[in-house]
Amino acid sequence: MTWTERQREMLQAMGLRVWAAPVVEAAPVVAEPPPAPPPPAASPKPSPSATRPAPAPATNRGAEAPTEPPPARSADLEGRASRIATLDWSALREEAVQCRACGLCESRKQVVFGTGHPNARWMIVGEAPGEQEDLQGEPFVGASGQLLDNMLVALGLTRAADGNVPDSQRVYIANTLKCRPPRNRNPEPAEMLQCEPFLMRQIELIRPRLILAMGRFAVQALLRSSEPVGKLRGKVHRYQGVPLVVTYHPAYLLRNLPDKARAWDDLCLAASVAEGDGPHVAPR
Ligand code: URA
Repeated sequence: MTWTERQREMLQAMGLRVWAAPVVEAAPVVAEPPPAPPPPAASPKPSPSATRPAPAPATNRGAEAPTEPPPARSADLEGRASRIATLDWSALREEAVQCRACGLCESRKQVVFGTGHPNARWMIVGEAPGEQEDLQGEPFVGASGQLLDNMLVALGLTRAADGNVPDSQRVYIANTLKCRPPRNRNPEPAEMLQCEPFLMRQIELIRPRLILAMGRFAVQALLRSSEPVGKLRGKVHRYQGVPLVVTYHPAYLLRNLPDKARAWDDLCLAASVAEGDGPHVAPR
């Protein structure tokens, strides 16, 4: 990978030094996570906590401490997930827009389905919409989105779905939750379970060359791991055969500047995988 002058300027603006392409061969490839556990007998109710006022101050977006993985799926949820797994792009969007599977539908202003081109080579997965995203209906348009966009520009990538951009430069951005948790509190396990089929189907339809999982909730959803991000980054994992790189959530980076350089390393690793100059690329 070589940097244009503009990219160098962007990197400097982000406070990151420029270095040569990362050594892809040094990055270990990690085995796929085990499949979701079998469903229990009882069927879950939509999370009631999303309809009542959120407890305690909960604007800890992007926090990287480990959490419990989501509970197992019920038979009802399996049925819903199987149906969602058959939807085409427009039916999937419509299903998400109409979704009332958990209490977040009561407080959301908009469903934030995702943005980017469906042929994107990169797929970036974040946590959940915040206030601005809820208002505008697009992921990562607030402060953390600005940092993310700066990073994308530095890599020569874009979320723009229109124009004459090659697929190799396109990024699709989605969240694990499509609706904003009140006051930006953390996603609850039951909400993640209900929302998960949308993300799974998005990945299936896009079939990206590379997934960048930002933050612990994306990691939980995709790798079924409650390991901290710091332990999972720096390696190439796989989700359904697609190479997956873990990195810090931009909101976390805004509060923990020293980790920006590590995040940049992660992006360089991801870029080398997406460009196909490493041994990790899954067939499209
Ligand atoms: N943080 C996220 O994880 N997603 C967004 O869309 C915005 C902020």
